[in-house]
Amino acid sequence: MSKFLDGSLKNLQPYVPGEQPKDVQYIKLNTNESPFPPSQKVIEVLNEEESKKLRLYSDPETSVLVNAIAEFYGVNANQILTGNGSDEILAFIFRAFCGEKGMACPDVSYGFYPVFCNLFNIKYIPVPLKADFTVDVEDYKYIADNVIIANPNAQTGIFLDLEQVEKLLKQNKDRIVVIDEAYVDFGGVSAIPLIDKYDNLVVVQTMSKSRQLAGARIGFAISNRQLIDDLKTVKYSFNPYNVNRLSILAGAAAFGDESYFDACRKKIVSSRERLTKALQEMGFVVLPSKANFLLARHGKIGGRELYLKLKENGVLVRHLSDERISDFVRITIGADDEIDILLNKIKVILGEKK
Ligand SMILES: *Cc1c(COP(=O)(O)O)cnc(C)c1O
Repeated sequence: MSKFLDGSLKNLQPYVPGEQPKDVQYIKLNTNESPFPPSQKVIEVLNEEESKKLRLYSDPETSVLVNAIAEFYGVNANQILTGNGSDEILAFIFRAFCGEKGMACPDVSYGFYPVFCNLFNIKYIPVPLKADFTVDVEDYKYIADNVIIANPNAQTGIFLDLEQVEKLLKQNKDRIVVIDEAYVDFGGVSAIPLIDKYDNLVVVQTMSKSRQLAGARIGFAISNRQLIDDLKTVKYSFNPYNVNRLSILAGAAAFGDESYFDACRKKIVSSRERLTKALQEMGFVVLPSKANFLLARHGKIGGRELYLKLKENGVLVRHLSDERISDFVRITIGADDEIDILLNKIKVILGEKK
């Protein structure tokens, strides 16, 4: 730390992303990326002609992408804001709507939420999940601060029914409720149809997980026009050209290929069910996931030990240090051959523990 770092940042604990190894070739099941390539339509649009246009700034309104999203979800273009990954969208949301109000969220959730609170000097209010790792919206009933729920929840994969989401929205109309739907396409139900019914709802999605574009960095918020306009004020005060030219085209092309999107997510869902069963047969406890990952623990081996042993064997999964889930590993749903190798390695590792 230099002597120049602002005093207010001296205790900032940055978000720690999952490993992105550059040396060894691992089977990479640690950051919830898609095992499949982007749609062929995306590949085609990233051509020489478009690359030459990189000398020009991108469209600050990202109209091509916004229109594709608007069409897909049947909402108005002015109800959408795109960002450089949904992490940036989340930053805009925290900056725009918190400060006087804090942000409440489940104690086990996406690790970036407390980091944004810290960065922007926002009160962070962790609300414990139930013992079975589900959200009980009753726990939010008397919270006046804003609320953010990842749905399905990060780390656990557990989905909260829309009925419960509506309850949360109705509990206090004077607070913002953010539903972070990074994993909704793997079996959840989106809250987007509720945006006209509740003026305190912001839905956030990403193209990183279910649309094969983690490296393109595209996320978006869908809400009513007033809240989107507030977010635009923050965006235009920070980085007007926040989505680059090629990503705008790539994102629009991906939204235009619904059949590939559906095929990929269906495959992830069926692989998830296969992996869940196989792990349960080996004695794992697996949380009921509607995401593209599983959180699993085994009585014979700790989460960190299993993570390290798998890494030695060329398979990267994620071990999260949150106390409540430190017995678990989080496994991204990979391709069939990756899952087969993972299962074989686990079998050997557990065999050695006898
Ligand atoms: C992956 C993830 C994000 C971030 O996605 P990007 O669009 O890649 O920045 C946001 N929220 C949750 C819950 C996630 O799991």
